[in-house]
Amino acid sequence: MSYLRYLLNEELVEIYSEVRDFSRKLCTDIFEALILTILSQNTSSINMWRAFNELKRRIGCTPQDLYRARIKDIEDAIRIAGMYRIRSRKIKLLVKKIVEEYNGDLSFLKDMPLEKARALLLSLPGVGYKTADIILLFCFNKHVFPIDTHIFRISRRLGLIDQKDGYEVLRRKLEEIIKPENYKLVHLALIRHGRKICKPQNPLCEHCIFRNVCPYSMSSRK
Ligand code: SF4
Repeated sequence: MSYLRYLLNEELVEIYSEVRDFSRKLCTDIFEALILTILSQNTSSINMWRAFNELKRRIGCTPQDLYRARIKDIEDAIRIAGMYRIRSRKIKLLVKKIVEEYNGDLSFLKDMPLEKARALLLSLPGVGYKTADIILLFCFNKHVFPIDTHIFRISRRLGLIDQKDGYEVLRRKLEEIIKPENYKLVHLALIRHGRKICKPQNPLCEHCIFRNVCPYSMSSRK
């Protein structure tokens, strides 16, 4: 485990060193980050950004802008992302709660203890573990490790969790292994690694830094 810990904390972050710059630019506005996560589900990042920019251009992207907007106008603005009727209803539900219960401002989460802030985010419509943890880590610098589908796949192949284990088991496991100051970089680097090397089909194990500690790779070499 200590060698795997070294690979994750040191080598992986060096290989994908471009994530250092990227991580600093992520999440300048918590509300925009929430809208982006709704727009990002099951669509390409190109279409997510097109829909987001169109939403900003036509309506604006503050809680008040979207609270006042007609659902039809939101649908038209985000049409390119697909599933625009479902997404626009999700946006409306989220905005209603944020405006009516929190006066359109979630910045107070920054000063809340992690578990309380996490529980509050999870109580918002359409916000699950991954979205909540991304907001907490990248917007508020809280020490929580978000898991996405690439991180799940790599972790299972590395034998960190069993097939049946879910989000919370893996999150706690990775939070033990990864240094808190590295959470952002390792999160982003693992996603890149999952896209480029540890792909869903035919992972490129011969190019992977984990190949000598990875049960999946070792069993496929037998
Ligand atoms: S060795 Fe292969 S299966 Fe294991 S993490 Fe690397 S690419 Fe994925």
